[in-house]
Amino acid sequence: MSTLQVNLGYRCNQTCSHCHVNAGPWRKEMMAKELIDLIPEVLARLDLHCLDLTGGAPELHPQFRELVSAARDLGVEVIDRCNLTILSEPGHEDLAEFLADMGVRVVASLPCYEQERVDLQRGQGVYERSIAGLKQLNQLGYAQPGSPLRLDLVFNPSGASLPPAQEPLEAQYRKALAASHGIAFSHLLTITNMPIQRFARDLQHRGELVPYQQVLRQAHRPENLSGVMCRSLISVSWTGALYDCDFNQQLNLSSKAGPRELADLLSATDGLINQPIAVADHCFGCTAGNGSSCGGSLS
Ligand code: SF4
Ligand code: SF4
Repeated sequence: MSTLQVNLGYRCNQTCSHCHVNAGPWRKEMMAKELIDLIPEVLARLDLHCLDLTGGAPELHPQFRELVSAARDLGVEVIDRCNLTILSEPGHEDLAEFLADMGVRVVASLPCYEQERVDLQRGQGVYERSIAGLKQLNQLGYAQPGSPLRLDLVFNPSGASLPPAQEPLEAQYRKALAASHGIAFSHLLTITNMPIQRFARDLQHRGELVPYQQVLRQAHRPENLSGVMCRSLISVSWTGALYDCDFNQQLNLSSKAGPRELADLLSATDGLINQPIAVADHCFGCTAGNGSSCGGSLS
């Protein structure tokens, strides 16, 4: 067990079509202060070395910076799953600088290096603001030679298909972003779209849900099972409930055994080894083709 992945709430400044948490500016759900205060204790108690912050836009939580500082003080790596446009939202203009000062690893969605597809999937004007955000991060040292600041980009397909191989696509991204904008990044992570929530409803609407589920099932590769993220990660909802991964969290699919709430982790004695994992049909999204996780392709 290495990672505590915490969903700080569903509020987001974007409303992307594939969003599996149905996030948006109208969402009110946010993690309570008492739960946020428990997180550094849990990290220390379980000797976890990574805190992975997600949402919504995690930076919109009023205690985001406090939590990041506390985790970094413990020597824990912090990942900010950043949508890039948050960096230019009013009131967040100094966010990029804060992330750099704290040595936070930024993982940012950019489903294409061209404007049309990004705006189609993530909203009008998102591409331009994302490029501005990436330039700002580069200027602060992210993904620069010799700098420890890591900036990863996330690719997910626009529709009902598996992502292409990660390495050649990363080379394509690197070339295109450098040529058109002078932008550098550390790595590209390819992630399979999960047929759940908003994305599943969109597919259903187009009559593509069942064919996509079949594509995932037929592309299942057992060798991906050893790398699925639920083996090394605990996912925490904004209410403090525990799940095996963010997808199970969105489906409210929890394990039948083991700790159920964030506070329970303070008394976990066995390092959470050999706990059962709750699985269902959507898990083929992780095991199909090259495999998929929050850290990108598994192969
Ligand atoms: S930026 Fe992320 S959390 Fe926000 S709507 Fe898009 S996919 Fe969902
Ligand atoms: S969706 Fe299934 S296989 Fe993928 S991380 Fe979650 S529990 Fe594991």
